[in-house]
Amino acid sequence: TKAKDCPLDKDELGKSTWGFLHTMASYFPEKPTKQQSQDMSKFFNIFAQFYPCEPCALDFQEDIKKNPPKTSSRDELAKWLCNRHNTVNIKLDKPIFDCSKVHERWRDGWLDGSCD
Ligand code: FAD
Repeated sequence: TKAKDCPLDKDELGKSTWGFLHTMASYFPEKPTKQQSQDMSKFFNIFAQFYPCEPCALDFQEDIKKNPPKTSSRDELAKWLCNRHNTVNIKLDKPIFDCSKVHERWRDGWLDGSCD
């Protein structure tokens, strides 16, 4: 076991980062202003430049070049990000996540009440 407060490894960084990104998407405005939509698109482009795992960042840059951020609403953004995460899941042989449940996972809690 590691001592506490060590630098994040690739998987710890990934898990924390996805937590932040999906939570941010699930709290994005349902009806964003034009400015908010533009700024969120910029956020992801800048994020992809500076994400501190080089192979991850390079692949993510390629992926969002092909699939640019969809920022016209909360649902669009959350679904777009879910699909980006699934692209990484496929690459790493991890299970595909059902994107219809993304707000349950990251905002509302599961419908069975298990997060209440
Ligand atoms: P994670 O994949 O971190 O997922 C955390 C939780 O998110 C899961 O438990 C699940 O509840 C939920 N979840 C899973 N899929 C979805 C989805 N599609 N939508 C919404 N919620 C979901 N690692 C590499 O080895 N190589 C890479 O190239 C690489 N690229 C990355 C690029 C980015 C932008 C990020 C943020 C991370 C990247 N990672 C990469 C890290 C990798 O994605 C995982 O975070 C890491 O392997 C730890 O995986 P995990 O099993 O803890 O679950």
